[in-house]
Amino acid sequence: MPCRSNNTSKQSYGWRPPAHPLTGLVYCSDCGGKLYCHRYDNGKLKGKFACGNYPQKECASAHRIDADDLLTLVSKTLKSVYDFIQVDNSEFIKAVEETMASRQDQDVRLQRKRLTECQNRVQELEMLICKIYEDNILGKLPDKRYHILSSQYESESAALEQEISTLTSAIDNYTDGTSEARRFMGLISKYQDFDHLTTAMANELIDKIIVYDRDRKGSRQTTQRVDIYFSFIGHFMPPAEPVDPEVAAAQEEERRKIEARKDRLHQNYLRRKANGQHKAYEEKYRPIREAKKAQQKADLALVQPSFKSTDYVEMRKATRTEADIPEGVKGYDISEMVRKVGSPATDAVIEAVGVGRDLPDQRLVSGL
Ligand SMILES: [Zn+2]
Repeated sequence: MPCRSNNTSKQSYGWRPPAHPLTGLVYCSDCGGKLYCHRYDNGKLKGKFACGNYPQKECASAHRIDADDLLTLVSKTLKSVYDFIQVDNSEFIKAVEETMASRQDQDVRLQRKRLTECQNRVQELEMLICKIYEDNILGKLPDKRYHILSSQYESESAALEQEISTLTSAIDNYTDGTSEARRFMGLISKYQDFDHLTTAMANELIDKIIVYDRDRKGSRQTTQRVDIYFSFIGHFMPPAEPVDPEVAAAQEEERRKIEARKDRLHQNYLRRKANGQHKAYEEKYRPIREAKKAQQKADLALVQPSFKSTDYVEMRKATRTEADIPEGVKGYDISEMVRKVGSPATDAVIEAVGVGRDLPDQRLVSGL
């Protein structure tokens, strides 16, 4: 499991919020690279996960996903698995066994097929080695040719033997999933609050999260596949609550209609984008958008007046006490000290000398 830090990091430009709880667990479905959480999206403080290989164009798409939405999905899924275990843990073990069996069935089938292929080829190679040996003894195959062929067959055979041993142990090691289900139950039973997923919880309960590309690119109204792999048990979905078939059909029809409408709107958008109408619209409304933005900024400034450095100087002048003046500076006349430093006696410089701060020109008071 990768080691991750959940500490806040302090950099030269100030405090940053803690890492997103899912950082390090989210992977791209196409390139297999990690998705990183970006705190800002389009200038707004809104977390988005995006494929780390996209900026270098090593991945065709960013696989962007809203960080809050992803966290909510993971929390809800964990909660539903937890509830399923609470209701009937033997049913949970059975469901995990079935999921693992169906997943392993396919893997085992492919591995058995490859194992037979490897074993057949090894037998073939043994016959070929015998044949070239006889041909060489009988003088039908020159020594040089014999040595080349022999070493080729030997190295192929050694590689196949290695593969056979790996495949055999992989096939033997398949489990029915019971111990994995029990281990996962042990982990999840430690927690109850899944609404506030922490980094430690996410690391313990989740192996990885695979994010697929959005079904509709360039649209906010899109669906996106996300596979959550839990620790030990892998990809698992608790069975859905049984629903009345009529209700389910009505819900499905409703969902289909909504999706069809979104598709239609998205196709219209793509058409407008292709024929330049979208750009013309953007240009037409740019001044209105910018005026709105400026207005929002002005409104915000009224609510939160910006605190300038001169305000700070005034405030410190009003509130400064003897205790604020550093050791060794006490008793000196500030105007005299400023004169010695040789800086112009601006308010900022007087203030800096008075409280032992760095001077605006970076000269230290301690250097006096
Ligand atoms: Zn990718």
